[in-house]
This record gives sequence, C-alpha cells and structure tokens, in this order.
Amino acid sequence: MKTIIEPFKIKSVEPIKFTTKEERKKILAEAGYNPFLINAENVIIDLLTDSGTSAMSAKQWSGIMDGDESYAGSKSFFKFESAVKNITGHKFIIPTHQGRAAEKILFTIVGGKGKFIPNNTHFDTTRANVEFTGAEAIDLLNEQGKHPEIKADFKGNMDVEALENFIKKTGKDNIPLVMITVTNNSGGGQPVSMQNIKDVKAICNKYGIPLFIDACRFAENAYFIKKREKGYKDKSILEIAQEMFSYADGATMSAKKDALVNIGGFLSLNNEELATKCRNLLIVTEGFPTYGGLAGRDLEAVAIGLEEILDENYLQYRIRSTEYLGEKITAAGVPIIEPPGGHAIYIDAKRFLPNVPPHQFPGQSITCELYLEGGIRAVEIGSVMFGKYDEDGNVISPPMELVRMAIPRRVYTQSHIDYVAEVVIEVYKNRNKLGGYKFTYEAPMLRHFTARFEPVSNTE
Ligand SMILES: *Cc1c(COP(=O)(O)O)cnc(C)c1O
Repeated sequence: MKTIIEPFKIKSVEPIKFTTKEERKKILAEAGYNPFLINAENVIIDLLTDSGTSAMSAKQWSGIMDGDESYAGSKSFFKFESAVKNITGHKFIIPTHQGRAAEKILFTIVGGKGKFIPNNTHFDTTRANVEFTGAEAIDLLNEQGKHPEIKADFKGNMDVEALENFIKKTGKDNIPLVMITVTNNSGGGQPVSMQNIKDVKAICNKYGIPLFIDACRFAENAYFIKKREKGYKDKSILEIAQEMFSYADGATMSAKKDALVNIGGFLSLNNEELATKCRNLLIVTEGFPTYGGLAGRDLEAVAIGLEEILDENYLQYRIRSTEYLGEKITAAGVPIIEPPGGHAIYIDAKRFLPNVPPHQFPGQSITCELYLEGGIRAVEIGSVMFGKYDEDGNVISPPMELVRMAIPRRVYTQSHIDYVAEVVIEVYKNRNKLGGYKFTYEAPMLRHFTARFEPVSNTE
C-alpha cells in the first residue's frame, strides 16, 4: 500500500517560531512548570487540544465572507440548520457558541437534584454542567475500556447490563435522559459501535427514557464503524452517521471538533416541547434562535465543515495520522492507551515513569520534559487534573495517570508528526532522569489550568 498523504494542499501558512532548549528551560520555569501558562508563541508543536484548533478550508474561508449577519432569519442559519438536519435527522436545531452552552441549556431544563444522567464517560464540561444543576453524572463504561493495555475495537462502548441495572435501581423517573459520547474523549478517544448504540437505545425504549448523543467526534466514530464493524464497509460516512443519530432523540455537539471550525456548537432535538423550553432559555443566555451566540459567518463555516468532515479521504488521513504516531512510539516501547483513538494519543504515565508516584505527578513530569526536549505542548490528565484530597490531606489519585497529545485537524504534516515521535522517544530513553513535581500554587477548582509547580528534589 502507498503512503496515505494529506488530502489537501497548503495555501496559507503560519510560521512556527523556534526556541532553543536553554530558552525553553527559562520559559517553562517562568510558567511555573505548567504548559497551560506558556504563551502559544513559544510552543513549536501544540498538541494541547484538538478543540477549535482546526485549519479551515478555502471554501470555509469564502463562507466567512459570504456569512449573512442579519439578526433574525439569516440565510447562513438555514444553511447551518439544513447541514445539521441532513446528518442528525433531528427536527429542531438550536445553534450555540460551543458544546458546553448546548449542555448548559439541556441540563438546566432536564437536570436538577435527585436526577441522574448515565453516559459511557462524561466529558469534563458535561459532568460539570450536569452536577451544576444538582444532578449526578454517572459513568458506565464497559470493562475493556478501563484497561489501557487491552486492544479492542470498541473500547468506548457503554456497559449495557450496568445501564439496565442502574435504571432498575434508580427508577426511570429519575433519569431524564441517557447519553453516549462518540468517540469517548475522556476514555482515550475510543469509538462506540453501532451495535452498542442500538443496544443502549433498546434499553432506553424499554424504560421510556430518551437517548442523546454527545456528537463532538461523530465522523471519526463513523469511520471506525466503517472500518471495524461487520456490515458497514460499503456504507458511506454520511449513511453511517445518519444511522447513529437515528437511534437518538437529540444531540449536543461542539463544532470545534468534527465541524472543522474554531468556534460553534449546537443542540438538536426531536421533542417539540423540550425544544421550545431550550429555545426560550437560549434567548436569555446565547441569543436569538437563528444565531445562538454565533455570527452568521460562523454558522456558514460550520455548515461547510459538516460537509467536509464526511469525506472519507480526510477521515482516512485523520485516523491514520493518529495511529501512525501511536505505532511509532509504541515500537520504541513507549506505553500508551491501546489501540490509538481518533483524535489523540494518550501516554500511560504510570508505566512510563514507574518511579514517580502519583502524588508527585508523573504525567506533569513527562509533559514538562516534552516541552523542554522539543517545544511540544501536551496535557496531563491524571492526579493534577483529577486528584482530590482526603481528610488528612493525602492525595486521592484517579485510576489512570495520562499525558494526552491531541492532534489538531488539518494542521500538521507527517514530518511534524515524525518530529513529535522523535521527541517522545528521546524523552522515554531519558526517563530515568525524570523526577516528580509539587504544587507551589493551586486554585480550589479546576486547578490544572492555573497551578504552579516546582521540581521535587531527590531528598524529599
Ligand atoms: C469538547 C467537548 C465538549 C465541550 O465542548 P466545548 O465546545 O469545549 O464547550 C463536550 N463533550 C465532548 C466529548 C468534548 O470533546
């Protein structure tokens, strides 16, 4: 087989500023050893997130010029609405400025104290928006998904049996909806099978509970179904996506992912009464129902992005470039969540740095070293992000210590990814020299964004 090439030519470029290791040492120390606090200008390859970091196409940029900025009934809204309807088949389409705004509106209406929202794994903003209403966010991931070293096709699947048991125990009246996140971002970008979506829908139907999809990476998920699930290899991505959404009564989406734009989102629904309530809230918090917190040009760019994302050549390149990075570093022994997911590679920091205990933040240590070694920015997803304290002030760590390298869409070429692999492998070779970190400042909530650290000395 020939090399899978980037399915685009480059028409406009953004120069990368290079820094030396000496300079990066200083920059990192000034940033309190927290990559979130490094100015983007001083990053060579930025893998902090795939959210809102996509490169738009020439067609999307011309759409920006073409956007209709009318307050009400903008032509760009109808283009946006028809693009979303074409994929989801849902009746009511509500634009929002990003994914969490759709979540906020939905859960403000259906959530509240005493309510429970099951999901395969809640993304952090979804969990926060559920919990903010007083409801409980419940993760029901299948067993395979909890083991980084197991290779399986659909590690994002929901545990259907656990779902039914949960509904029986909790009572269907306390569960306003069930959600499935495709792909499962917090669980390593792992896909969910069509069979699993169908099985979850069957349980939901049995108890009369609506099913919603957190659709941020629906096209990447559809591509995995096409490649891995029996009966889908001859179907188009659009057909597969349409089937996925046909089992759902609604969806929330951050267009900053699979709509290939820098800002945007939506809430789609079939239930008219719920849609009316959501729209009324939208007017208070986001804007008039035909723009919902976005400019007309943003709606235009989303509509075009939703067409482009369905291109199989694009998806082949997308999924392959993530897998390519995973293959290169695992060949050198670097432990990652297997198999590679759609949008990111997750280094397993516990196996990478067994000598650094979770309370000294092995993921943070690797993240710092990736920056020092090659100017690469990744993000720790472990005890820094999710750690809590018990009554005696001891750290309670989450089950996994990870470093996520998320790949922006259509931004980096194969040589950039080769460079990333070389840097990761270099850091891995020198892993015995890496030590732990400790906080010098931490905020009471979402501390990972603003925390400051210093290296722990060997005698501590
Ligand atoms: C990014 C994301 C969201 C939230 O979207 P924002 O646009 O960042 O508000 C929700 N769910 C998942 C799975 C995501 O990846």
